[in-house]
Amino acid sequence: MRASQFFLNTQKEAPQEAELISHRLMLRAGLIKRLGSGLYTWMPLGLRVLRKVEAIVREEMNNAGALELLMPAVQPKELWEETGRWAVFGPQMLKIKDRHDRDFCFGPTHEEVITDLVRREIKSYKQLPLNFYQIQTKFRDEIRPRFGVMRAREFMMKDAYSFHTDLASLEQTYEAMYQAYSNVFTRLGLKFRAVRADTGAIGGDGSHEFHVLADSGEDALAYCPTSDYAANVELAEGLPPIEPRQAPSMEMVKIATPHVKTISEISEFFGISKSKVVKSIAVMRKQQPSTNPELEQFCLVLIRGDHELNEIKLEKAIGSFRFANEAEIERHINSSSGYIGPVNLHPSVAVISDYSVKNMSDFVCGANELGQHLKGVNFSRDLSEPAMIEDIRNVVEGDPSPDGKGTLTLCRGIEVGHIFQLRTKYAQAMDATYLDENGKKQVLEMGCYGIGVSRIVGAAIEQGNDERGIIFPASMAPFQVAIAPIGWEKSEEVKTAALNLYEALQAAGVDVLLDDRGERPGVMFADMELVGIPHRVVIGDRGLKEGNVEYQGRTDASAQTVALKDIVSKLQ
Ligand code: ATP
Ligand code: MG
Ligand code: MG
Ligand code: MG
Repeated sequence: MRASQFFLNTQKEAPQEAELISHRLMLRAGLIKRLGSGLYTWMPLGLRVLRKVEAIVREEMNNAGALELLMPAVQPKELWEETGRWAVFGPQMLKIKDRHDRDFCFGPTHEEVITDLVRREIKSYKQLPLNFYQIQTKFRDEIRPRFGVMRAREFMMKDAYSFHTDLASLEQTYEAMYQAYSNVFTRLGLKFRAVRADTGAIGGDGSHEFHVLADSGEDALAYCPTSDYAANVELAEGLPPIEPRQAPSMEMVKIATPHVKTISEISEFFGISKSKVVKSIAVMRKQQPSTNPELEQFCLVLIRGDHELNEIKLEKAIGSFRFANEAEIERHINSSSGYIGPVNLHPSVAVISDYSVKNMSDFVCGANELGQHLKGVNFSRDLSEPAMIEDIRNVVEGDPSPDGKGTLTLCRGIEVGHIFQLRTKYAQAMDATYLDENGKKQVLEMGCYGIGVSRIVGAAIEQGNDERGIIFPASMAPFQVAIAPIGWEKSEEVKTAALNLYEALQAAGVDVLLDDRGERPGVMFADMELVGIPHRVVIGDRGLKEGNVEYQGRTDASAQTVALKDIVSKLQ
């Protein structure tokens, strides 16, 4: 690519609202442009990066035997009603109506659509196992879009869904996906860690997250350096000895209740203003999918300082969760295992109802080992706040690892991938079956596997940057090599040598950017460094006289002289 024919649009300053280095650098380098809250245009330069990530993801998925398809982004309400998720997915789902007043959503995820497809197309065990994937735009109306593409509302996800006759087959594919994910992040050149994870909005049994390690990550990961134990601190399963679907007992509620009962007490307990309590009580529910509409009655909230639910929304939320008395809450708790599962395991979840606005029950109940560790941690603040992580660090660090093989330590991560064994959760709800060897109808086993393709770009920049700009791993840099000719417009020798090198590199299959804009060296160097091109070749009259050019790697302290005739082989 010749820079004169490309669209480079770098900026000296980043807008004020960009908090994270990756967000600032992506804007300054002109990789993305903001359209609105959580909405970004991928500029040609940024799209090159995104496409490289996509290509690696696609290759590894194909290698692992997954089959690419592409499902509609817009999904009919009826499908989501079959699994009960239309009601419970919550405000993250963007709901839309067509001209006939029919309800749709812009897909935040695709379990319902794929399960519908599979129940129509799969007849026999002979067709199984199957693993379908797509790379597609998702929309989630995040409560707080921020960090640019890392927590956007519209973002690119690779989502895969596998179907099986039995658990053993599901486990096999789950393993293969675990390995494929490890390959993806290794090939992308990222420092990452796989951890046991909560099953969140998607639901199901076993689950792992893949995190890019970065101090700015929103998640806190507890791991044991002397064993392979690693878990997200918001973990619901995996910290033994926990029954994943165990519901909290009323006793736990009672144990916790003395902590806080009223908005004033919450305010005092968490050390935040009353209005902030009201405003910051966000309906959380982890957007647990549920087939039982009754469970909707039970609303979980996470007390965090940053949620932007206004009072009206809160009123609404509370309005739909009415409990007359404690007995009723108890009934709901007892009837809601699976839905409530994560609650007793989640150290920072509180329960709120119209009843509990007056009698706020706090679930800092320490029902699992990590919960015990975290007891007493002030969860009023955002997990991404440095002070917050310090609190958790003080509590967790140095404590014995649940596997008994060492002590725990803490780091922060950016969730870039998440794999789940869904089992029969969706297939059951949607009657997705196959005929077994005996011609008998059986419910399908299912897994699902997500990668935040666009988030990866931001996460990589969080890991790779310096005062001059982005340091992309070679695997995802927009160009591998920049040629910076000094005196492009003045020296025929320089121009000829630069063009020859450009053509030679292109012929060798190297992604090369020739800076033929006629800019001063300072401007060229600053741009190429800012956008994170790994290799730079400077061609000038003086060097050419001796048959040399200057080479500098993006992270090298200084340039080295290389013979022009050797440079192509050096860069291959
Ligand atoms: P998070 O905890 O960060 O909100 P999630 O657990 O809700 O993510 P999943 O449902 O597991 O997300 O979706 C699969 C992947 O999609 C995530 O691992 C993440 O990399 C990516 N992802 C999720 N939400 C966003 C978002 N708002 N912006 C960009 N990528 C996202
Ligand atoms: Mg989320
Ligand atoms: Mg998550
Ligand atoms: Mg997740």
